[in-house]
Amino acid sequence: MKTDYFKLTFSSLSNNEAFARSAVGVYALRLNPSLSEISDIKTAVSEAVTNSIVHGYPDTVGEIVLEGYVDGDMLHINVFDEGVGIENLNEALEPFYTTKGEDERSGMGFTIMKSFMDEVNVISEKGKGTKVYMLKKLGIDAK
Ligand code: ATP
Ligand code: MG
Repeated sequence: MKTDYFKLTFSSLSNNEAFARSAVGVYALRLNPSLSEISDIKTAVSEAVTNSIVHGYPDTVGEIVLEGYVDGDMLHINVFDEGVGIENLNEALEPFYTTKGEDERSGMGFTIMKSFMDEVNVISEKGKGTKVYMLKKLGIDAK
């Protein structure tokens, strides 16, 4: 059972990327993280939320759900949208793959999430939305 958790719902406006990033940074403090762990978590959240904002809801303002919970020394962070979904998930997860112009996006968001978190799982369905499940084990770094 989740006893220590949060769940936030917000609109897919670009200002809410900073809101989501800060909220998770503060929530994570209860696990006594190192500065680099905090920075990793905030960066991963920022990438996932930005994806929902720019790709999930390209022409509309939709709803994004951000939830987090603690399980021992592990922090789980999930980001859900009900946007356009990802047509080819295997390709999307590859480094440098982007459906936006190269000038706009570098295609590194998922790669960054995977390198900064211990686990990243993505479920997406075209027309239904995208769910990103991430997990980081805290306390691996020397404090
Ligand atoms: P960058 O993150 O470097 O700015 P990017 O967003 O294109 O570029 P990724 O974050 O790795 O790169 O995402 C790869 C691709 O997956 C995106 O170009 C987009 O097509 C698709 N994608 C990612 N997240 C979503 C989402 N929430 N909804 C719909 N499509 C998504
Ligand atoms: Mg991205």
